[in-house]
Amino acid sequence: MEPKKHIIVIGAGFAGLNCARKLAKQDGVRITLIDRHNYTQFQPLFYQVAAGLLAPSNVSFSLRNILIRHANIEVKMAEIASVDLNTRTAVTADGQTYQGDYLVLAAGSQPDFFDIPGAGKNSFPLYSLHDAELLRSRILAVLEAADRDPSLIAKGALNFVVVGAGATGTEMAGTLGDVMHRVLKDEYPGLPLNEVRIILVDRGSAVLSAFSAKAQTYAVKMLEERGVEIRLRTAVKEVASGHVVLSDETIIRTHTVIWAGGLKASGLSAGSGDRTGAGGRLNIQPDLTVLGFPGVYGLGDFANISGKDGKPLPQLASVAEQSGKWGARNIAADIAGEPGTPFDYLDKGIMAMIGRNAAVAEVGENRHELQGPVAFAMWIGVHAALLSTTRARIEAFVEWAWDYFGKIKGDRVLDRFSQENIRWSDDEDTSEAGAPKPQ
Ligand SMILES: Cc1cc2nc3c(=O)[nH]c(=O)nc-3n(C[C@H](O)[C@H](O)[C@H](O)COP(=O)(O)OP(=O)(O)OC[C@H]3O[C@@H](n4cnc5c(N)ncnc54)[C@H](O)[C@@H]3O)c2cc1C
Repeated sequence: MEPKKHIIVIGAGFAGLNCARKLAKQDGVRITLIDRHNYTQFQPLFYQVAAGLLAPSNVSFSLRNILIRHANIEVKMAEIASVDLNTRTAVTADGQTYQGDYLVLAAGSQPDFFDIPGAGKNSFPLYSLHDAELLRSRILAVLEAADRDPSLIAKGALNFVVVGAGATGTEMAGTLGDVMHRVLKDEYPGLPLNEVRIILVDRGSAVLSAFSAKAQTYAVKMLEERGVEIRLRTAVKEVASGHVVLSDETIIRTHTVIWAGGLKASGLSAGSGDRTGAGGRLNIQPDLTVLGFPGVYGLGDFANISGKDGKPLPQLASVAEQSGKWGARNIAADIAGEPGTPFDYLDKGIMAMIGRNAAVAEVGENRHELQGPVAFAMWIGVHAALLSTTRARIEAFVEWAWDYFGKIKGDRVLDRFSQENIRWSDDEDTSEAGAPKPQ
């Protein structure tokens, strides 16, 4: 009997997990799925965790549990430090090597701070479950501090700056607005929540720039109803531990800067040399292989994937999921001695949830526009379909989402207090100039 083909998959996100699961249905293959975590994460709901509306266990799922019925997938929790595309080998941080007949690179993205001074150190990105939990703790810690000592409000305790008005930043700002102005008043009766400022900053000229003008107008209205101040055509120049400096020289005191300002490929791409392009992502061919390296595939956020029109596809869960399945199909074809086929993305549209009952969706390739509760219902359906997990989890998600439709609940436990050494005296002498009055 021929030995089984060994496929190494790095990254168990939307792309890697879907690739592994589809490939596992083939005879004659064995798969090693490697991730730095022993769980897969559902990034689209991280901002709900950060806002204290969902528990971490609702957005992260044990890989071993999900894959329990796949005897030909072996899960390894390891940090991959480097890969050799010539030999299709991955080397872990502690020096172990994994070599395969095929190497699938699906290591996703990481935040890009664009070398803005202090941004990496002092802001809170939202790209891992850990990030979401740290941000939740910071939000709760500043609320608790201001509740104990109202003089901290003048030091920016209740100012939240969200950098980047794309889908992640807009969803975060709107949800924070819901929480601060509609949920917390019963829990913090002594805190002047009317002094909360949520400032959404973007150097571009629109919120949700990927959406239509109509959706953008709706999003601005929904954000403003939630007390969000929008500052467009404004870049962040510096992030300090107690303030941010904007390009118009405004200084805003804050201890919570949320980074939704940009992404680049996961650090693993750095070793791929001149095979990387925009965003440090791996350049791949239409069949998802890397030119000159037979058996090496790039999937999801980690790769520059082109659409039918040749333009790069966005870093979206649906692109990652579909490229994962397509990559599996092309690997199976290669094993069978057949050529792979060019990736054909089925564009189901784009959507963003700005707050409870406030969503925008542009559905299908023709971008049929939906807003409000209908878009919210669409959002639930699409995200339930993306959950690569058990039926029970999907049902729990749908139940949560319909609950959310009715009333915002959630549980706000500050469980990482040791991380919360906030330096209130850091920039006593800064004053805010030119900022609009809080709403
Ligand atoms: C806050 C947020 C909200 C989003 N909302 C939406 C949304 O509503 N809809 C939508 O379509 N898309 C959304 N996206 C985008 C979507 O989450 C990504 O496009 C998608 O996760 C990409 O899937 P992936 O499998 O390529 O990468 P990921 O899902 O990021 O998975 C990569 C995996 O690789 C692992 N990994 C990375 N480096 C290493 C290493 N060196 N060693 C071992 N393991 C490693 C990581 O742990 C991770 O599990 C959102 C993203 C974010 C951050």
